[in-house]
Amino acid sequence: MSDHAGPLPVPTPETRRYWEAARRHVLELPRCRACGHRFFYPRAACPRCLSADLEWVQASGRGTLHTFTVVHRGARDFPLGTPYVIAIVELAEGPRLMTNLVDVEPDPARLRIGMPVEVVFADVSADVALPRFRPARA
Ligand SMILES: [Zn+2]
Repeated sequence: MSDHAGPLPVPTPETRRYWEAARRHVLELPRCRACGHRFFYPRAACPRCLSADLEWVQASGRGTLHTFTVVHRGARDFPLGTPYVIAIVELAEGPRLMTNLVDVEPDPARLRIGMPVEVVFADVSADVALPRFRPARA
């Protein structure tokens, strides 16, 4: 368990399943039963067809770095400490999510758009694990 000083997610009816899966170190995505669309963030209806007939599916945890920024002057008490990387990862399943890139040198010259990444989970409290991403290992 890390010394997490930052804010923690507060699950809503739409996101509770996501956070419960994350606590088990499983990345899950909502999928629309009507049109098959997988999306993120979790919400009550499919953003493509507006169906409320949704299910949860396990994601591979793999994706690519879509974009990123390196933060040198962050919010006070942010748990990662500066500098850190805020990233948008495009999952292999298609949806993109905002996360942190970890286990990397937070140096833009060493990061590459499109680089393969994989999920890792940070247990930040007894009830919460946060999905983060690191460069994919073979
Ligand atoms: Zn749909």
